[in-house]
Amino acid sequence: MTFFELLPAEGPRFSGFLDGSHRWGLPGGLCPVCEASRGGLGEAYPSVDLSGWSQRKELAEARQVPLEEYERLRRMLRPQIPFDAPLLPGAGFGLFSGTATGKWGALHLPYPWLLVMQRDAMERLRDEEGIELRTSKMDLRFRAKAVVELLEIEVHPHGRLHDSCFPSGREQPCERCGRQGGSLPKALSLDGRTLIAGQDLFRLEDYTTVIIATERFVEAVKRLGLEGVVFKEVPVV
Ligand SMILES: [Zn+2]
Repeated sequence: MTFFELLPAEGPRFSGFLDGSHRWGLPGGLCPVCEASRGGLGEAYPSVDLSGWSQRKELAEARQVPLEEYERLRRMLRPQIPFDAPLLPGAGFGLFSGTATGKWGALHLPYPWLLVMQRDAMERLRDEEGIELRTSKMDLRFRAKAVVELLEIEVHPHGRLHDSCFPSGREQPCERCGRQGGSLPKALSLDGRTLIAGQDLFRLEDYTTVIIATERFVEAVKRLGLEGVVFKEVPVV
């Protein structure tokens, strides 16, 4: 099977940008051993509504806390999440709310790690191509005359980069917090042993800012002529 990285289309027709955040989030957790926080930028579950959860106030504010405090909050939160999820520091939950500016593609990446879609595009993918995505409404104020209905696509983490992406060797994970340093390599390849079937879209577990699509998804988007995202093939090793 062939896989593709999602990248934003360039140009004035695709200038859309969001300023906002998900309603709740896990804090960053500063590790006493590696003195950093294992970042989960991009990990977000807008379908997880914590509004009825008595502890939700503890996740209302983005901040840095000691690692033990992050781990305590993650333990408390885990039973509220109805699926497997890494729940990394910074992971977001609940609706995204904020301000929208600019012009929007049918599919659009206002940040490399956040995929949104116009409702019409989501419905065509579902009805004409049989591609079911996990979508959530967004709470947006538009700063433009043309208001579009944008949905956030919930993209779960699966799969990892192959070690061969790191020619001088990959850093060992921190024994205390599991953080594996190293910036995103320029040339990506996926570790075939870590991929699971049946996911048309996923984000990498080890680089949660990277969103990957299957060939089935890419072909459907092209057949429907949906614009706003470009696809770059990523080999599987
Ligand atoms: Zn650490």
